[in-house]
Amino acid sequence: MSQMSTTMDQLIFQRENRERIQALESSFGLSRGLLSTPGRVLMGEGQLLKQGRRKAEPKVFFLFNDVLVYGSIILNGRWHKKQNIFPLEDIQLQDLQDSERLTNQWLIRTPRKSFFVSAPSYDEKQAWMHHIEDCRSRLLKGGSCQPSPAFAVSWIPDAAAYKCMRCFSRFTVANRRHHCRKCGFLVCNSCSKTREVIDHIHPTKKLRVCRCCHTSKKEEVPSRQRGDSNGKNSSEEDDEAASSDEGEDGEITQNQTPSQWFSTQTDTWGQVGTYVDPASLHQWPQ
Ligand SMILES: [Zn+2]
Ligand SMILES: [Zn+2]
Repeated sequence: MSQMSTTMDQLIFQRENRERIQALESSFGLSRGLLSTPGRVLMGEGQLLKQGRRKAEPKVFFLFNDVLVYGSIILNGRWHKKQNIFPLEDIQLQDLQDSERLTNQWLIRTPRKSFFVSAPSYDEKQAWMHHIEDCRSRLLKGGSCQPSPAFAVSWIPDAAAYKCMRCFSRFTVANRRHHCRKCGFLVCNSCSKTREVIDHIHPTKKLRVCRCCHTSKKEEVPSRQRGDSNGKNSSEEDDEAASSDEGEDGEITQNQTPSQWFSTQTDTWGQVGTYVDPASLHQWPQ
C-alpha cells in the first residue's frame, strides 16, 4: 500500500470517527456530556445487560481509546440517556463464571461504581474484555495516567436478601432496604445510620455505611440528641440517586444486536465473530 493511500485511509478514518462520535453525542439529547475531544477514537459499541439494583437491564456501551461510556436505551435505541463515563485507567475487570442470574458475565470495577454486565455470547464477552484491557494497557503505557488505588464495591441486588444482612430483621415496606457503600450489603436503616465520606466515590458527599464498616475512629461525639432524627436521615434519597439509572420508565427493551468493532484495516464496521482480531487495534491513528 502506498504512502498516499495510507494517508487517505487515515483521513477517512478520522472523519468517520468524528462523525460517529458527534452522532453518539447528540443521541444523548440534552443530557449529553462532552464526548468529542481531540485524539479520542471510538473503538466499538454494543448492548450489554447490566445488573442493577432491582434487575438486569440492557444498556448501550461505547468503548473509546480512553473512556468507557454507557447509557440507557430509549425509543428503540435511537436515543440514549443517563450517560455514564468512566476513564479507562480507573477500570478493573474481573472475569466471572456464569450464574443463574447472568451468563457470560464479568465485573467492571471503578472507583465510583462497580457493576456486573453480561454479553449475549461468550465470544462477545471475550471481545469486550479483551478490547477494554487492550485500550487500557495502551493508555497506561503512555505513562500519563495512574490506575486507581481504590474501587467501589458492587451492590448486592435487592432480591438477594429478604433480611438485613447485619441484624437479620425482615425487610418490609416500613423496614426498607439500603446499601452500605463500603461492603455493598443490604442492610436496614438502623444498621446503617452512619454517613462517611468515601473519597473514591465522592470527595465530599457523606454516604451510608453499615455499622460493621463504620471504622472512623473520629470522636464524632454522637451528640445523642434523640438519635439523629433531625432530618439528617436522607434515607432513600441517596440510595435512589446512586441507583437512579435503574428501572426507569420509558425505556424500551429491544433485541440484542451484536457488538460492532471498528477496524482501521478495513475502515468498516464489523461484527463480533467476523472481526475479533485485536491486532488491527494496534493501528489506530495517533
Ligand atoms: Zn439491620
Ligand atoms: Zn458495610
